[in-house]
Amino acid sequence: MQGDFKTMKLCMIGTGYVGLVSGVCFSDLGNDVICVDKDKDKINKLKKGIIPIYEPGLEELVSKNYKNKRLKFSTDLKSSVKNSDIIFICVGTPTKKNGNAADLTQIYSAGKEVATYINKFKIIITKSTVPVTTGDELEKLISKKTKKNFSVVSNPEFLREGEAIRDFIYPDRIVVGANDAKSDKILKNLYSPLISKGAKYISTSRRTAELIKYAANAFLATKVTFINEIANLCEKIDVNIEDISIGIGLDKRIGSRFLRAGPAYGGSCFPKDTKAIVNTSTKFNTDLSIIKSVIKSNKKRSQLLLKRVDVILNKKIKNKKICFLGVTFKANTDDMRDSSSLKMIPYLIKKGAHVNYYDPTGKKIEFMKYKNVKCSDTIEDAVKNPDLIIIHTEWNDFKSINFKKLSKNKKLIIYDMRNILSATKIKKFGFKYFSIGR
Ligand code: NAD
Repeated sequence: MQGDFKTMKLCMIGTGYVGLVSGVCFSDLGNDVICVDKDKDKINKLKKGIIPIYEPGLEELVSKNYKNKRLKFSTDLKSSVKNSDIIFICVGTPTKKNGNAADLTQIYSAGKEVATYINKFKIIITKSTVPVTTGDELEKLISKKTKKNFSVVSNPEFLREGEAIRDFIYPDRIVVGANDAKSDKILKNLYSPLISKGAKYISTSRRTAELIKYAANAFLATKVTFINEIANLCEKIDVNIEDISIGIGLDKRIGSRFLRAGPAYGGSCFPKDTKAIVNTSTKFNTDLSIIKSVIKSNKKRSQLLLKRVDVILNKKIKNKKICFLGVTFKANTDDMRDSSSLKMIPYLIKKGAHVNYYDPTGKKIEFMKYKNVKCSDTIEDAVKNPDLIIIHTEWNDFKSINFKKLSKNKKLIIYDMRNILSATKIKKFGFKYFSIGR
């Protein structure tokens, strides 16, 4: 390993998208990592080499590090905590059932358990996205349970599903919010292999690190919502949103990423994190009016696109065969959390449509309860018969489909919600083509 890098013993609590990816990447850097989860089935699968989530490159990396014994899986939190120097809490922080606040039950319950097993100095890190002041609460809660020395640090994760490994290894920045110099030094050592490859390491206070994560996600959600609204205007004035995205994205002050118009933003982060930061602002008597508008606009987005479906089908949704290509919230992930397809498909079947979908990550449990929703096993099967095809997710697999060859319907209509197809080509086949913001 590079320079003075000293490998460490790490425990990841929560072996989901964040815990598993960061755990395996830390082990690949030479550390001894134990990934703990209370979900026995998940841990058993991982021990057999079965990866519970879809993430490109993950299987190979898990297999390599599991074989060389730097990566372990366990349900035993006690021994995992005792044998580790640093404990990363990577559990879920969903929205509370009632209201907009983040539900921190999993964080505090993990914290309480960890407290009872502290046997020597430990750094306890919130890698989960937690509202500002959660670290303060966690520290109080652990202090009540142990007299042993520990430090609570915030080290939010910025990886994107679908590109998680690359994002972990080549992050734009690493944010560490430690209120003590000792922990900061240890964390800087842990991340030194990434810092030496060019990652920026930012030391902040714990509260600052917590807020950086929410501010980043709220800003990105704002960018997506902004371009979606400009796309609405483009549709009225015969202007192409793709040209607008290029035209403004090349301005370095704006940047081209997260500037593609499409369906409402979804996923496990933006929807819950925008709501949580607004909730935090209310607690501290501040009005985050921009983020409030973003949430409102995004909520309207699915309804707006569905209205367009209604117009495209001449207000005759009943009995129409509609095919969704992709149902996950973005490409290269199996994550369905808050995907806009969860709003669109139930709406369309309520209106009497028959829906089939194809997603490269397979059948989705979320749609199994609907009689009129079928999952196709192949693209060929999916696109054979529908009246309307909706490209919902921007999987590469959909960019080169030969609709002319595969569709039996000469009057096929395509609604490309990701602008990934060539309008000219589709129209040349004699099909009707609609897209976003043009
Ligand atoms: P996830 O639901 O995929 O995984 C969480 C895991 O924690 C689950 O497997 C669950 O069984 C486990 N767990 C919960 N309580 C536990 C306990 N007491 N002991 C052991 N295991 C426990 O969640 P995720 O998507 O990995 O997100 C985790 C956190 O990271 C969230 O706060 C999220 O906002 C944040 N985050 C997520 C992403 C992402 O792209 N998914 C990116 C950055 C940050």
